[in-house]
Amino acid sequence: GSIASGETIRATLFPGDGIGPEIADSVKQVFRAADVPIDWEEQYVGTEIDPRTGSFLTWESLESVRKNGIGLKGPMATPIGKGHRSLNLTLRKELGLYANVRPCYSLPGYKTKYDGVNLVTIRENTEGEYSGLEHQVVRGVVESLKIITRQASSRVAEYAFHYAKTHGRQRVSAIHKANIMKKTDGLFLQCCREVAEKYPEIQYEEVIIDNCCMMLVKNPTLFDVLVMPNLYGDIISDLCAGLVGGLGLTPSCNIGESGLALAEAVHGSAPDIAGKNLANPTALLLSGVTMLRHLGLQEKADQIHNAILKTIEEGKYRTRDLGGTASTTEYTNAVCDHL
Ligand code: NAD
Repeated sequence: GSIASGETIRATLFPGDGIGPEIADSVKQVFRAADVPIDWEEQYVGTEIDPRTGSFLTWESLESVRKNGIGLKGPMATPIGKGHRSLNLTLRKELGLYANVRPCYSLPGYKTKYDGVNLVTIRENTEGEYSGLEHQVVRGVVESLKIITRQASSRVAEYAFHYAKTHGRQRVSAIHKANIMKKTDGLFLQCCREVAEKYPEIQYEEVIIDNCCMMLVKNPTLFDVLVMPNLYGDIISDLCAGLVGGLGLTPSCNIGESGLALAEAVHGSAPDIAGKNLANPTALLLSGVTMLRHLGLQEKADQIHNAILKTIEEGKYRTRDLGGTASTTEYTNAVCDHL
C-alpha cells in the first residue's frame, strides 16, 4: 500500500561483506540526499553460528526483517567451515522468500548488444529441482525429485500478475517445458492460467523455455513479465542480466509471506576490489529502488532511478567495471547531484 506523507518507515539494512559496506554507504547517502523517509536498522552477519538459526545469521537480524517487513541486503561472503546452514538458504527458509524478482532494463548511454530491454523475471524460489531431494537408486543410477506444488505455483503466479498490475506492465509470459514435463510443468501452467483469468486486463501467454531463450537473445524487447519455476528462473534471470550489462548493474528483490520484501544486488562481495573505493554501487542502489517501489514510494523511486540513469548516461563519473575511472564516492556524489 502507499505510505502517508510524513511517516518514517523502518527498514532493515545488511551492509554485508567485502564491498558491501562501501556500496551500502552509497545507498544511505543517496537516500538521505533524496529525503527518502526510511530509517535504517543495520544488522550484521555474526562471527559465530547462532544456534537458534543454525547459521551465521543471528536470530535478531532475522527478527528485524520480520518485524519491519522490508529490507535491503548487501552481498554476503559464504563463511568457511562445516556445520552451518548457508546464509542465503537461512534467509529463504526463515523469511519464507518464495519469489525472486529481477527487473532488467537497458541503461541509456551504457551500450550493450541490446537496446530498449525492459523486462522482469519472476522466479519461483522454493521448490522444483532445487528441493534438495536427491539419492542413489543403485550404483551408477541417481535420482533427483522435481517437486511442483499447486500451492507454490499459484502463489508465485499470483505475485507475477499482482506485480504486472501494480507496476503498469501489460503482459505475463509463463515459461515452461510442459510438452515434456507434462505433470510438473503442466501443473505450473495450470496454476498460471487460473490466476490469469482473474486478471483479464493483463495479457497472458505461455512460452516453451528453449524457444524463450532464442527469443531473448534475438529480441529481448518481445518480453514484459516472465514467470517461471525455480531452475528455469535461475538460468533465465542470469541470461537477462547479461543482456543489459551484467553483475554490477542488476537489482533483485525477494518476496516473502505477508508482503515481506528483501531487496539485494545480484553480485557477490567482490573481495578483489573490497575496501578500495572502486565498487559500483548501482546494483544495490537499484535494489533500493525496487524496495521503494514495493513500498509504494514511486516518486522517490523514480527520482533516484532517473539520477542513476543520468549519471551513467552522462558518462563523466563511471566506475571501472563500466569502463570509467570514478571511485565509488565520486559516482555516488554525481548521483546525488542529479537528484
Ligand atoms: P562477485 O560477484 O563477488 O565477483 C565477480 C567479479 O565481479 C569480480 O571481479 C568483482 O570485482 C566484480 N564485481 C562484482 N560486483 C561488483 C560491483 N558492484 N562493482 C564492481 N565490480 C564488481 O562473485 P565471486 O567472486 O564469485 O564471489 C565472491 C563472494 O561473494 C563469495 O564469498 C560468494 O559466496 C559471495 N556471493 C554472495 C552473493 C550474495 O550475497 N547474494 C552472491 C554471489 C556471491
